[in-house]
Amino acid sequence: MKYLPNEKVSYLIIGQGLVGTWMSYYLSQQSLTFKIINDAIIPSASSVASGVINPVTGRRIVQTWMIDELLPFAIEAYTQIGNIIGEALIQHAPIIAIHPSEQMKESFEYRLTHDNVYLAQNKMEDWIQYFKIPFGTGQINECYWLDLNTLLQKWNTKLKLDNHLINERFEMDDLQILEDEVQWKNITADHIIFCDGNNSMQNEYFNCLPFAPNKGEALIVSIPGLPNTHIYKNNVSIVPWKEDLFWVGSNYEWTFENDLPSPAFKEKMIVALDSLLTVPYTIVDHLAGIRPANTQRRPFVGKHPYLPQLAICNGMGTKGCSLAPYFTKQLISNIENGTSINAEADVQRFSQLFKK
Ligand SMILES: Cc1cc2nc3c(=O)[nH]c(=O)nc-3n(C[C@H](O)[C@H](O)[C@H](O)COP(=O)(O)OP(=O)(O)OC[C@H]3O[C@@H](n4cnc5c(N)ncnc54)[C@H](O)[C@@H]3O)c2cc1C
Repeated sequence: MKYLPNEKVSYLIIGQGLVGTWMSYYLSQQSLTFKIINDAIIPSASSVASGVINPVTGRRIVQTWMIDELLPFAIEAYTQIGNIIGEALIQHAPIIAIHPSEQMKESFEYRLTHDNVYLAQNKMEDWIQYFKIPFGTGQINECYWLDLNTLLQKWNTKLKLDNHLINERFEMDDLQILEDEVQWKNITADHIIFCDGNNSMQNEYFNCLPFAPNKGEALIVSIPGLPNTHIYKNNVSIVPWKEDLFWVGSNYEWTFENDLPSPAFKEKMIVALDSLLTVPYTIVDHLAGIRPANTQRRPFVGKHPYLPQLAICNGMGTKGCSLAPYFTKQLISNIENGTSINAEADVQRFSQLFKK
């Protein structure tokens, strides 16, 4: 990568996972100048995620935070970015809930008749040729599957072609904080936005935030004949990946020694798949990643309270697919126009933790 002498941009973005991708999308939509620094060698949560937007969560099957606003926003956003790169990135894929126990079946049936928006009954007979179903099935509508790998790769190519991408590791020692701007190597920028996932935990300006990284793994499995029009959920999720491949996972580990795939997870998934599927399957890959989660389960979005040329968009946890487009747009609008950031996501809620 050749640098122009003393190049000046409005924004420097660190990281091109889901968050950096959306940040650069909204900057280009507003014709704002930017460079995005990404090191493809550093593991990213976005590249191992299943890409599901599920409007309900938990054993009580309640609606997820802000879903009424986030879901239509995400559908529109993924459709638009897909149009730009010439790919259909978002697919409506209802979840077939294969109840793992009598208790979960009762919980589903209770929610069907109490404050229900997304749940429906379905025909168990449609699925019996693929699955062992001792406790019946239900359906969760308004779920979506995103082809994240195509999004990240094609957007990366576009960033390169448009001369926005710097493919190298960002080191804090190379950053100078000037009075109203920042300088990185020979680039001066009005703002730097950290979209570097878990690496922000080492960032001296934002490491006071209550990060709580969470490890997750998945198997990539070939299941010939299983329709890739739906997502299947029992104790494990089976999510379309590409062609006859499915993503199978996951686990949520708060304590872990490394970010590598573990034999214990693979064994657990084999037991789960053997007790769930009636059709043959073959394991073709095993992935692992660290979710940039936090103790509050809400994103970290906003400017540093004392150094407003520094900002962060992070902490997307298990919900990056729906949160990233919405909150990257909100942050740019906050910086450009002074509009507010949702108070539950705004880093200003931690202002007492930041050093002056
Ligand atoms: C197994 C698993 C399954 C998941 N499934 C889902 C799901 O179905 N739905 C959902 O909504 N969410 C899911 N998630 C969560 C989702 O992946 C995250 O919320 C989201 O990807 C976070 O995106 P990010 O851009 O903040 O971080 P990341 O994707 O980690 O991106 C950070 C980027 O910054 C780059 N980087 C870091 N440091 C530097 C540096 N110093 N210099 C240059 N570049 C740097 C990295 O290379 C990377 O590209 C899942 C996560 C896991 C692990």
